[in-house]
Amino acid sequence: MLNFTVGPVMSDPEILEVSAQSAPYFRTPEFSQIMKENEERMLSLVHAPAGSRCVFLTSSGTGAMESVVMNVLKPGERTVVINGGSFGDRFAKLCRLHGHETAEVFPERFGAQIREEQLRPLAGQGYGALLVNMCETSSGILYDMPMLARFCRDNGMILIVDAISAFLADPLDMEELGAAVVLTGSQKALGVHPGVSVVALAPEALARAEANPEVCLYLSLKEALKNGERGQTPFTPAVATLLQIHKRLEKIEAAGGAGAERAAIAERAAQIREGIADLPFTEVAEDPSHCVTAVRPDHGGAKEIVRILKDEYQIWVCPNGGDLADQVFRIGHIGHITKEDNEALLSALHDMDRRGLL
Ligand SMILES: *Cc1c(COP(=O)(O)O)cnc(C)c1O
Repeated sequence: MLNFTVGPVMSDPEILEVSAQSAPYFRTPEFSQIMKENEERMLSLVHAPAGSRCVFLTSSGTGAMESVVMNVLKPGERTVVINGGSFGDRFAKLCRLHGHETAEVFPERFGAQIREEQLRPLAGQGYGALLVNMCETSSGILYDMPMLARFCRDNGMILIVDAISAFLADPLDMEELGAAVVLTGSQKALGVHPGVSVVALAPEALARAEANPEVCLYLSLKEALKNGERGQTPFTPAVATLLQIHKRLEKIEAAGGAGAERAAIAERAAQIREGIADLPFTEVAEDPSHCVTAVRPDHGGAKEIVRILKDEYQIWVCPNGGDLADQVFRIGHIGHITKEDNEALLSALHDMDRRGLL
């Protein structure tokens, strides 16, 4: 099967090899060293400001989102959430669940950009944090991060960036954005097995986590940070996934760092977008992330297209959920995808078009 979903994605076989063994015991200086290198490399890839820290939680990305809501927001702090789809909706739900009055900002239509005028009514209203999914993976929109960062700076709000799908796919500079937190996960552009989420915290977020009352144990950032000082985790981590991350980060560094990785993903995205231009599809995102291309088949039937690609062509693309399940599907550009893999998908789609299936 070729996998063009947005996670879990295909992995480099050389990276999978590092976990083709029993998980090593992890309370050792050797594993601590690996974790310290993972932390250092992650902070450098997101260009975190001096004094930042990074922790690895054994959870899917949503665990990191919830951990940040519980540990970095102050009790009862009012929040603004950019809600352009299922992941924005998740941030809003998490904020409310944990007692934060939340203003949601919706795009004018699914896949549209958020504009400064939409935020203006929220200025000076006592909101303490803005939470955004840098790429809203359900529509593929890449939000205008410099504009959101400016809004936060002008209004004394912290910026919390879910870059779970944007990390390594789109330009991300934590220091330049002044972001307090950046999140990602193992199964997106890191391209390894699921099971680990990554939280990078700037000094401001570290101070908040330290000052906040403890409200959880498993997802406690205080615990994770304290243990991380010696390269450890409070509980048994997804050891195999962390070893894969170590190898992957080493390879990214050797291949030229975040810029080179981003260029490769951008090139794959461009190849698909050019290749589908003559098909009866409309692209959903006004400003698409390099991570994913969401398309609306002009004649509907998205679910059936996803099924036929899987059953007849052995290709997974990513269905959408909820109301859009039959209207939109997505093609991912992250993970171990080659130019030839892209050509195979384009050829399958054109074959379906000739068969009158689109
Ligand atoms: C994948 C993803 C998540 C996390 O999903 P999990 O299934 O919990 O790993 C969160 N936010 C965005 C933007 C994502 O793409």
